[in-house]
Amino acid sequence: MRAEDLTLDELVSFSDGQLSLHGRRLVIHSLHAFAHLRGDLVRSIGLEQTRRLLTRYGYYSGQADAAAMKRVYNWDSLDEWLLAGPRVHALVGVVRTHIRSMTWEPETKRFEMEITWRGSGEAEEHQLELGSSEEPICWMLTAYASGYASFCLGTPVYFIESQCRCQPGCRVCRATGRDEASWGEAITPHLPFYQSDDIIGKIQNLTGELKRQQDEIDRQRRRLERLRRPNAPGTPFIETRNPAFQRILDVADRVAPYDTAILITGESGTGKEVLARHIHRQSRRAAAPFQAINCGSLPETLLESELFGHRAGAFTGAVHDRLGLFEQASGGTLFLDEVGEMPPSMQVKLLRALQEKEIIPVGGNKPRKIDIRVLSATNRRLATDIRTGKFRDDLFYRLAVVELELPPLRERHEDLLPLARLLLNEIAHRHSIANPRLDPKCHDLLFAYPWPGNIRELANTLERALLLTRSGTIHPDHLPSHLHEPATIAFPRSNEDRPLADVERDHILTVLRSTDGNRRKAARILGIGETTLWRRLRQYGEE
Ligand SMILES: [Zn+2]
Repeated sequence: MRAEDLTLDELVSFSDGQLSLHGRRLVIHSLHAFAHLRGDLVRSIGLEQTRRLLTRYGYYSGQADAAAMKRVYNWDSLDEWLLAGPRVHALVGVVRTHIRSMTWEPETKRFEMEITWRGSGEAEEHQLELGSSEEPICWMLTAYASGYASFCLGTPVYFIESQCRCQPGCRVCRATGRDEASWGEAITPHLPFYQSDDIIGKIQNLTGELKRQQDEIDRQRRRLERLRRPNAPGTPFIETRNPAFQRILDVADRVAPYDTAILITGESGTGKEVLARHIHRQSRRAAAPFQAINCGSLPETLLESELFGHRAGAFTGAVHDRLGLFEQASGGTLFLDEVGEMPPSMQVKLLRALQEKEIIPVGGNKPRKIDIRVLSATNRRLATDIRTGKFRDDLFYRLAVVELELPPLRERHEDLLPLARLLLNEIAHRHSIANPRLDPKCHDLLFAYPWPGNIRELANTLERALLLTRSGTIHPDHLPSHLHEPATIAFPRSNEDRPLADVERDHILTVLRSTDGNRRKAARILGIGETTLWRRLRQYGEE
C-alpha cells in the first residue's frame, strides 16, 4: 500500500448518518465556526493559551491518525506510512502538503523533513477572525505533523513553521520537521505548547504567592500602625533599626494572632512585658484583659491564690471568694513574668491548668474552665534549670512553643539614641517639662556604658538626669558618675557600620587605658612602633 493510493471514499465511510474513518467517528466542522472558536479563545484566554490548546489538539489528531493508518493498512515501507499523514490531511481538506525533502536514519534516529503547505485552512481561519499575523500561526498543522511523525518513528519529532500564509506577503506556509536532538536549543521555546497546562499547580502557586504578599502587606500595615502611634505607652522600644531585633518583632507579629504560647527571654530591663503587651494588642484577644504577674515576687501560697483565686475561708483572711488572674483575664492574655522563679510544686499546678484548661481555686474542689492565652518571660537560662531539675521540661515545652530572645541594649547600638530621645520625651511629658534635650556631648558617654540594666536603666538614668536640669537639656554632668568612669568602657558598640579609623581609634585608646597610659606597653600589645602610636594619638588629639 502506498500513500498516494489512498482515496477519500475508501478512507471515509458514510452510513447511518455517521462518518467514520475505519471505525473511528469523524465530524465535519465548518471552517467559519472553527474560526469563531479560535477568535473567542484568543480573546478570552489569550494567544499563548489558545496556541497551547490547539497545539495539543493537533498533536493528538496526528497521533490518532498515525495509529489508525498503521492499524488499517499494510504499508510498503515506513516512508509510505509517514506520507499517509499529509495525504489524509489533503483528502479531508485541511491542507495540501508538498514534501520538499526527507531523510530518516533509523540507527541514529535522525530525521529531517522540509514541507510546503498550500491553502492552509488554519491560516484562513486565523485571518478571518484575527487578521494577518507577524508570526506563523499554523499551530494545529505543525502539531499534527509532529504527532504523526513522532508516532511513526517512535521518537519525538517536532515541526516548526518558518513561513506562514497568514504573514503579509506570503502565499504558502513552509515548515521543517526534525527529531528533538537535531533541533537542539531551537526547540526549547516551542516545547511548552506541547505540554498540558497544570492549572491546579498554577492556582496553588498563585495562592501561595498571594499568601506571601498578604503576609507582607500585614507586616507593613502593623509596622505602619506602630509608627503612627510612637508615643503610646510602651511602644518606643518596639521601634527598632537593629536587624536582629527586627527579625524578632517580625516573628512576634506573625504569631501574635494565634493562641501560641510564647516564652520571651532576655536580660532584665530589655522590655519583655512591653513585647508581651504588644503581642496581646495584636491578637484576637486584644479587646479582653491583659493581666501580668511577677512569679518571682510572691511566696508560693500567695502566688497560687493570685493565679487560681480562692474560696472564702480557704485561709486566714480569706473572707470572700476571690477570682484569680486566670479568670480575671478570661478571654484575654495572662503574662507570667519571671516564670523561671516559680517553685516546683507551683510548676506542677500551672502545668495541670494549662493541660486541662481548667483551674481549681485554693480551698475549692470543683475545677473551673479557663479560656486564656499564656505568655511568659524569664531572664534565666531555663535550659540549665531543666538540666539541674529546677524547672520542669514538660512545662517548658508548653510555655515555649515559640521562644523570643530579646537582645540586650548594648547590642542595639543603632537603637540607643532614638530610644533615649523617645524615652526622654515620654518622661518629660509625664513631668510636664517642655523641650527636653540631650546635649550631643552626652552621646559618647551613653555609648561607652554597657547598660547592664538595659532599657529600664536607661529610662531611670534619663529620668534622674532630666529632673536635675533646669533648662530641660541634659549635659554630661547630669549623668551619674559611673557613666563617666573610663574603666567601664568595654566598648559594646557594634562595628558593622563604623569606619575602620573609628574602630582603630577606640581599640588603641582601650589598650592604652589598660596599660594605664604606658605607651611603650601599649605599642607592644598593638604590634606597632611607639612613634606610630604617638602619631596616631596626635591625630586623635589625645596626646
Ligand atoms: Zn501557516
